[in-house]
Amino acid sequence: MPDWSPWHPRAARLRVHQTSCCGEYELAAEGGQYFVLRQAEGGSYVETARGAYAHAAQTYVDLTAQHRCRRRAS
Ligand SMILES: [Zn+2]
Repeated sequence: MPDWSPWHPRAARLRVHQTSCCGEYELAAEGGQYFVLRQAEGGSYVETARGAYAHAAQTYVDLTAQHRCRRRAS
């Protein structure tokens, strides 16, 4: 599993490229770097796989393939 660290905005604009089925994960970019965002408890965000698009996108795909969907679980 990837290491998650608190997300702190580093650029003025955050662009979200994809959001997983129930919104748990987001493939995002800011300032030319890509990463996966996940909403943590309390409304804060954590990030992982920051760097090149291919790296972040692969991590996003892996996470969304593994995750337990909150929609289906309910
Ligand atoms: Zn889901």
